[in-house]
Amino acid sequence: MTNHLSIVSLQAGPPPNKTDTQSRLPVGDLASTIVSALPSPAAVLNRQGLVLAINAQWQDANTQAEATSIGNSWLNLVEPGDRYVALSCFSEAAANARTSIELRLLTRSGSSRWHVVTLSPLTADTLLCLATDIDAIRRREALLETKASMQTQMLDISVDCIKLITPDGMVLHMNKSGCRALGVPEGSSFGMPWLDLLPDDVREAGRAAIEAARNSNIGRFAGRSVIPRQAPQHWDNSLTPVLDANGQTTAILVVSREVTAQHMANQSLRQSEERLSMAANVGGLGIWDYDIRADKMVCDDNWYRIVGRDPAQPISSVAEFGPMIHPDDVQIATEVRHTAEELLATGEDYRIVFRVVHPDGEVRWVRSAAAIQTQDGQAVRATGFMVDVTESVLREQALQEQNQRLLIERESLALLSSQDALTGVANRRELDDRLGKLWADAKSTGIPLAIVMVDVDHFKEFNDHYGHLAGDAVLKRVAEALLSLTRSTDLVARYGGEEFLMALPGVIRPVTVLNRINEVVRELDVNHISSHTGRLTVSAGCAVGENVEGYVEHLIARADEALYQAKQQGRDRYVINTAGEA
Ligand code: GH3
Ligand code: MG
Ligand code: MG
Repeated sequence: MTNHLSIVSLQAGPPPNKTDTQSRLPVGDLASTIVSALPSPAAVLNRQGLVLAINAQWQDANTQAEATSIGNSWLNLVEPGDRYVALSCFSEAAANARTSIELRLLTRSGSSRWHVVTLSPLTADTLLCLATDIDAIRRREALLETKASMQTQMLDISVDCIKLITPDGMVLHMNKSGCRALGVPEGSSFGMPWLDLLPDDVREAGRAAIEAARNSNIGRFAGRSVIPRQAPQHWDNSLTPVLDANGQTTAILVVSREVTAQHMANQSLRQSEERLSMAANVGGLGIWDYDIRADKMVCDDNWYRIVGRDPAQPISSVAEFGPMIHPDDVQIATEVRHTAEELLATGEDYRIVFRVVHPDGEVRWVRSAAAIQTQDGQAVRATGFMVDVTESVLREQALQEQNQRLLIERESLALLSSQDALTGVANRRELDDRLGKLWADAKSTGIPLAIVMVDVDHFKEFNDHYGHLAGDAVLKRVAEALLSLTRSTDLVARYGGEEFLMALPGVIRPVTVLNRINEVVRELDVNHISSHTGRLTVSAGCAVGENVEGYVEHLIARADEALYQAKQQGRDRYVINTAGEA
């Protein structure tokens, strides 16, 4: 019988042969009455699984009339894919056990719907089959399952660590990133305290954040995760309470965003700020920051110390800085924008020196240097240092003053000196001065002026042979000899190295004096081995300005020409230039 039933059910196709004795089915009135009285789909089956009675509810819902017709196999009502489980359920029920199973029954439209099918023994020969439509529930469940798995997938895709924890901080769910960051296998840590997975030193902040979320606020703390042999990661944890209708926290959503890069950047920024401020302190530098557009000034304590003010009464604008500056320097110190732009144009650094006046009246020099930030070619911000440079400015001023004094002294000394240091006759400056006067006098009086140029002969050779010091001594003696020939109104000056100029007012016929010039030198009786005379000699050239007009320089040039001729003619002699005279 069981065998037969299995054949029928597995074939589940056309109705069995009506001539078969097994298929003659007695349809009891009672069975019909029971199923038709039931409000949901119901059928009475015989122990072979053939339908003895079926109610209208089932027939309405079900497929082809043939499938639901009396004497047909019950399995024809079941979705083919579920027939195997339906059969095992039927076998259980046939063994007098009430069984329920969820399976899909075919519908009139050809599709199927989920039902809970209960098979219970009715009589010795029959079973009652009840079906309850649970299709909507099953579909909702399936949808929810899909949604849940989509949410899990979404959470797992996120690079942020997302956790759902109980208000006591027990892990309810944690996405993949979270598990990876905390170094726990996925799904392993559920149910354990979340904070136990974090390093000791951040747990206190974590507890405070959970407490905040428990009290329906958003909690936040900076966390850290440490996995052996890996660099620590830093996290910004934000804890959002999940509230019920009464505003009670039922769970806490923890989103942990990795901020390791920012943390490192902040740390190095903090360190460099610390170093900067240490350096500023050591160097006595005051730091200032000026937002040019907003006219907003921010300065550190050192800055206030330099300007002699109390940092507890901060200034915020350049206008407030103005009264602290020496009146003469206010413009340069406060025109930051203007100065900055000018310097930007020239490519120079912003570096100005000015004076500040302390409240007690003390004037201090300060140097301010800044880096200028620009936007669209305009200076928008200046950040810099100020340093007290009073001592070095004063030192520099003293040095400058001293230099100035020395310069003046040297100049006045030089001015005062009119004598040639070696020979004691007039030097060039004195010559220019006195010759100018002599020439002017000559012009005004009409008294002629004679100019004599005297040059030592073969003096280079003298130096070469007797030495430079001997040469110096000889020059001195020659000068003295020339001086001995002059009157107080005459002028003897050293014109060049071994060349002298004599200006003799009123000398119209200079022959006598010229002869004496050669003589006095000869009389010095200085040996000069390289000279053809064996003695030191001079040559002289003379010009007399009888018509005193024009420039004295012309007269000198004429005397020079005559000297040249004297040299040409054999030296130790004089020549008078008479050319060019009227
Ligand atoms: P000349 O007869 O043509 O004038 O020959 P010179 O050698 O005298 O003329 P030259 O112009 O060739 O040389 C002039 C020399 O005078 C060269 C220079 O060393 C020397 N002399 C110029 N000034 C001084 C000085 O102050 N002291 C000494 N010892 N020698 C000087
Ligand atoms: Mg000469
Ligand atoms: Mg000479």
